[in-house]
Amino acid sequence: MDSRTVALIRTTFKAVAAEESGPERLARSFYSILFTEYPQIRDFFPAAMDSQRDRLVRAISYTLDRLEEPNKLLPFLAQLGRDHRKYGVRDEHYQAVAHSLRTAMSRFAGNEMWTDEVDHAWEQGLTLICDTMIGAAAKETTPPVWSGTVLEHRMVLHNLAVVRLRLDQAIKYAAGQYISVQIPARPRMWRYLSPSVPANANGEIEFHIRGVLGGWVSPAMINQTVVGDQWLLGSPLGGLGVPRNSKRKMLMIACGTGIAPLRAQLLQMAQRRTNPKVHLFVGGHHPCELYDLRTLSELAAAHKWLTVTPVAEREENPWWHADSGEPAPQLPGLEPRMTGQIGKVVASFGPWSDRDVQIAGSPSMVQTTKFRLMAAGTQTKNIRHDPLF
Ligand SMILES: Cc1cc2nc3c(=O)[nH]c(=O)nc-3n(C[C@H](O)[C@H](O)[C@H](O)COP(=O)(O)OP(=O)(O)OC[C@H]3O[C@@H](n4cnc5c(N)ncnc54)[C@H](O)[C@@H]3O)c2cc1C
Repeated sequence: MDSRTVALIRTTFKAVAAEESGPERLARSFYSILFTEYPQIRDFFPAAMDSQRDRLVRAISYTLDRLEEPNKLLPFLAQLGRDHRKYGVRDEHYQAVAHSLRTAMSRFAGNEMWTDEVDHAWEQGLTLICDTMIGAAAKETTPPVWSGTVLEHRMVLHNLAVVRLRLDQAIKYAAGQYISVQIPARPRMWRYLSPSVPANANGEIEFHIRGVLGGWVSPAMINQTVVGDQWLLGSPLGGLGVPRNSKRKMLMIACGTGIAPLRAQLLQMAQRRTNPKVHLFVGGHHPCELYDLRTLSELAAAHKWLTVTPVAEREENPWWHADSGEPAPQLPGLEPRMTGQIGKVVASFGPWSDRDVQIAGSPSMVQTTKFRLMAAGTQTKNIRHDPLF
């Protein structure tokens, strides 16, 4: 796509998004056009649409931001197309979505902004997106959806569970990728989770799940899951990962369940003969929230290439945490725990110019940490994280 086409698409989207509650109104208008003109599509979506609307706008803006980087955008869209097979979507559903989005955009932009040239630019952009997704889905030979049985459900914090499953058929995902998951208690509400272990031929998989206050799905994942439940999983997504034979040193930064995709990569690297140096900072609000230190301690003690620094925002545990009263033992292989906001702590070491950086955690933690690193001189091109939607 030429740069003028990209500019026209971006400018109209930004103008709509900049209006007061513009993104929300755009999403409402889009879904109302889609469900009115194509009522058969309603069944693909959950009954409650509020978080769906948020995700739509963030996904559009993520895609539009990358229109001029086809080497990044096209593989992302191809993954998305393969993942969308889990809904059973067909070519005509893509056309319906593209038509509804273009109509919603044109209504918002108004006659003055929505010229024939703008309309044509959107048509071109949406065709590229749909064709890439449809093409990748059509070529894929793996199942559109995998099912797995919950083998173990363990609460490791009051709002965080580790869930292990065995899949009926193993998924080949790269360590660091994420997967969309549906649980029986929340039909049609798929949520992304990052496996915390590398793929294995037996189809065993583990997820770390934090219950988000007021969330639709994550509280049910941690409170209503029982051994024997059948979960459904889509195709793997994302591009975090340390290529075999990579010589670039790594800086990894995780908060909360953000440790999962980084831990999966470290476990995979531990099976290799040589690795670049990796410094992992793992954080939480309170010391007791650093729930996975034992595994990290064992990894760091066994592998010279790995340095692990725990970071907690507060020095002390909260009053509600049932402490034994004894000071926590210093686990072997770990650096002494640091106190402070994780982005600030990591940036205080300097710009990390010789490192490739991965950040994983909540959207706000990823954004703040990225901002702190950039302010310390880290080049944006060296920083990677998953999409924040
Ligand atoms: C690439 C990727 C990988 C992910 N991997 C994991 C994982 O391994 N483990 C895990 O527990 N979660 C993971 N998540 C988050 C997960 O997909 C859900 O977004 C999260 O569980 C909330 O879902 P919900 O239905 O409970 O909340 P929703 O009903 O979707 O949202 C409720 C409210 O919570 C806010 N919210 C959503 N997610 C978060 C969050 N992470 N932190 C703070 N507020 C939030 C929303 O903006 C909304 O206001 C990942 C997300 C992405 C994008």
